[in-house]
Amino acid sequence: MTTPHYIDGRWVEGQGSDCIAVFDPSLGQPFAELISASTAQVDQAVAAARQALPAWKRTSAAERATCLRGFATQLGQRREALIALQMQNNGKPRHEVEIDLDDAIATFNYYADLAEQLPQKNRDVALAAPGFSARTRLEPVGVVGLIVPWNFPLVTSAWKLAPALAAGCTVVLKPSEVTPLIEQAYGQIADALGLPAGVLNIVNGKAETGAALSNHNGLDKLSFTGSNGVGSQVMRSAAEHCRPVTLELGGKSAILVFDDCDPDQAVDWIVAGITWNAGQMCSATSRLLVQGGIADILLPRLQAALEKFRVGNPLTEEVDMGPLTSQAQWHKVAGYFDVAREEGLHCLTGGQVVDREGWFVSPTLYTDVPTDSRLWTEEIFGPVLCSRRFSSEEEAISLANDSRFGLVATVCSSDLVRAERVADALEVGHVWINSIQAVFVETSWGGTKGSGIGRELGPWGLSSYQSVKHVTRCLG
Ligand code: NAD
Repeated sequence: MTTPHYIDGRWVEGQGSDCIAVFDPSLGQPFAELISASTAQVDQAVAAARQALPAWKRTSAAERATCLRGFATQLGQRREALIALQMQNNGKPRHEVEIDLDDAIATFNYYADLAEQLPQKNRDVALAAPGFSARTRLEPVGVVGLIVPWNFPLVTSAWKLAPALAAGCTVVLKPSEVTPLIEQAYGQIADALGLPAGVLNIVNGKAETGAALSNHNGLDKLSFTGSNGVGSQVMRSAAEHCRPVTLELGGKSAILVFDDCDPDQAVDWIVAGITWNAGQMCSATSRLLVQGGIADILLPRLQAALEKFRVGNPLTEEVDMGPLTSQAQWHKVAGYFDVAREEGLHCLTGGQVVDREGWFVSPTLYTDVPTDSRLWTEEIFGPVLCSRRFSSEEEAISLANDSRFGLVATVCSSDLVRAERVADALEVGHVWINSIQAVFVETSWGGTKGSGIGRELGPWGLSSYQSVKHVTRCLG
């Protein structure tokens, strides 16, 4: 790609120092390359967003809603191309990519609706004190930097872009260097819709480009999704500038299976929670807590289900799971298989890379994993499930909460009173009861503890790009 950066309404060549190769992980081969944006180009993008801000924040809520619906429609019109690109670059099976695309479309439509409701949110405030009136005015935070990872590129960017634009912010988006082509669609759509220059800018690059954006003086807010290591650097630069930051970070989430479950149904939920996107999900339920009375029935069925899984190239084969998306991730997961061997963990199935071209690993299940094992405590970001047995509800809650992360959890039980009670006791941002990981745009997304700061989606996602102003008047 010769002009991969979208700055001030124009597609421009990269002037940075990195040449970024874009890979098909099923083959382990590059199929495109691009030059990163330089620090000076990041400056230009932020300056363009600053210049576009006054006019964009003055647009009516209805105009912004029309624009957001335009993004949704145009995503739909690019459906086949976006599906093919994500299958090739992420290695995702078609059914998963279709859900990603529908999720991004739903996000733009949802925030179009919320944008339309914005005028009603600016309302009078009832005061107990006499002689004064007051009103609330919700204003855009300003120029926001958005930095995203590679695992759900279309979706993660939509979760940030749609509420930011709805609120009246202007943005500079930095996609991941692993999947830099997919979010180009958002720039192309901005062009097609005639979005004013500078409202949406896209700069591509690696850590250097990300750091140039997150350290930039010209931002009013930074929203980051990615690893805890980079997240803490991003937070440090937010602290230096004393400006707000949203962090969506990693997880090591639990799935709790009680004795009263239908074991086959529970196996479906467990498998979905660890194999979707080849386990490369912040919300992967990678710690299985299974009650003693069902464990001996459930674990062999789970093993059989994982061994039946068809792993392969989604572009040429019928598959349930594709490869890991990057070679670095493949090495990382293979490294955990080595740690498991060193720690003497009991591997019921998998535990190895697949002997073929590309970056494939087998769905993996370790049982009776000690709570101090690195595989029990660290985010692996692959289809690697660790399990333990528990006897009581209290023990299950205590094991689930014993983590430095707190993103999500799943509770499987036919006793719904118990399931709701357990959900309330779990220290996480989102709990599913008897469900796969269904994420609806109306509900919030984000974690407690080391999984991040702030919430995306729902009205909370919009609030994170708004600043509250009150105007108080003396009536005397
Ligand atoms: P990463 O932290 O390596 O990279 C994320 C983004 O940050 C990329 O665009 C990258 O180029 C950029 N970056 C790298 N170094 C930077 C720096 N010094 N300053 C600024 N930006 C920098 O993460 P990744 O490997 O792309 O993604 C995987 C991680 O993302 C996992 O930990 C996963 O749990 C997390 N994640 C969290 C959520 C969530 O909603 N909580 C969602 C998806 C992924």
